[in-house]
Amino acid sequence: MSLPDSIQVFERGWLSSNNVLLVDDACAALVDTGYATHAPQTLALLQAALGERPLDLLVNTHLHSDHCGGNALLQTAWPCRTAIPAAEAEAVRHWDEARLSFRATGQTCERFSFTETIAPGAHLTLGALDWEVLGAPGHDPHSLMLYCAEERVLISADALWENGFGVIFPELEGESGFAEEQAVLEAIAKLDVRTVIPGHGAPFTNVALALERAFSRVAWLRADPARNAKNALKVLIVFKLLDVRAMSFDALAQMLDSATAMRAAAAMLKPRDAWPALLQGLIEELAAHGGPLTVDGTRIVARGA
Ligand SMILES: [Zn+2]
Repeated sequence: MSLPDSIQVFERGWLSSNNVLLVDDACAALVDTGYATHAPQTLALLQAALGERPLDLLVNTHLHSDHCGGNALLQTAWPCRTAIPAAEAEAVRHWDEARLSFRATGQTCERFSFTETIAPGAHLTLGALDWEVLGAPGHDPHSLMLYCAEERVLISADALWENGFGVIFPELEGESGFAEEQAVLEAIAKLDVRTVIPGHGAPFTNVALALERAFSRVAWLRADPARNAKNALKVLIVFKLLDVRAMSFDALAQMLDSATAMRAAAAMLKPRDAWPALLQGLIEELAAHGGPLTVDGTRIVARGA
């Protein structure tokens, strides 16, 4: 993997997004900070990489809890500047939990502040390289990507992974997301990218193949939006279980009512009275063939917990 020396990628496990550290003489910047429960680990990784040097700048591609959950702790450790997508500024300023996604997904994120905003078209100098900020709606309406034309490196967040992309959340609420994801992929295809640093998983260079997979996945989801809803529920259930390690079936069933993104996804799949059976079926699928969950009586447990 040929990434410039000024870029370091911390590839993280399931709950946390990758963290991208970009360092030059003027600034040590981190793009995305992982999930809240991993924040001490994120801090330790950074301290080991930076030594005596402070972190100067945080940048968030988008404000999902697995991308900004380390912000609060890192802001406590260093008086760093923090740049967030401009479209989220009001919601963060007032910590408006109805607009931020944490409650809707049943996830947690400690409150953080910001000092500046970024929007598509802006340019940032990170790691002595020029990065253009690109819009990446689809997975999240306000998500951004960063592109360095000189090195042909794309920090894609959850818009493009080596094998797919993040849940298309707007479609769960009856809003458009598939068309936006399609357009973002088309825009990436025009960029001549050599290396993608995705939000999750290792950096990769076979960009054409990743795009081909992603295009066919958009088409597959669009053909039957219930597929996106089912995937969303599975992802949110696994995320929750990896976060808390174990939960009763009843507590999980209650989340289908209380977490609005889960409720919306469940409502796309089955009528309300069939949700327990729906949940049972999803858990069975997630527990089968060495999957991420196991069932212990009425308790659902993350495998390896
Ligand atoms: Zn995300």
